[in-house]
Amino acid sequence: MAYTYDPQNIFARILRGEIPNKTVAETAHTLVFHDINPHAPVHVLAIPKGPYVNFDHFAAEASVEEIVDFHRTVASVIADLGLAGEAGYRAITNAGMSGMQEVPHYHLHILGGRVLGRLVGPA
Ligand code: AMP
Repeated sequence: MAYTYDPQNIFARILRGEIPNKTVAETAHTLVFHDINPHAPVHVLAIPKGPYVNFDHFAAEASVEEIVDFHRTVASVIADLGLAGEAGYRAITNAGMSGMQEVPHYHLHILGGRVLGRLVGPA
């Protein structure tokens, strides 16, 4: 699969420091920040710093270091935000047309702080 990455997407601009963000955590390979339009009391986005368009691109082509760093950072944010264990959360990623992805830079939504309802609602 050939993936085409648009370097003008809004998360690329955040990573270049052209647009501000409310950072929750940052490492060499990963940035976690608050979603600008939260759908739950907790709604953060985790993104790799590398140019990956979606989950399958990241999973297929990122280095082991990037993949491990991303997931370990997400795990620590989940703990820091009080979502681990009983409280719980939902981690979602949208891709392409069916997933209605708006920003073409891989991001994992982490939502919590309320009961989130069933997985998929009406289109
Ligand atoms: P998706 O539909 O999965 O591509 O989600 C894109 C998400 O990015 C939405 O939840 C938006 O609210 C969020 N978003 C868009 N622009 C910004 C921004 N500048 N800072 C933080 N979140 C943003």
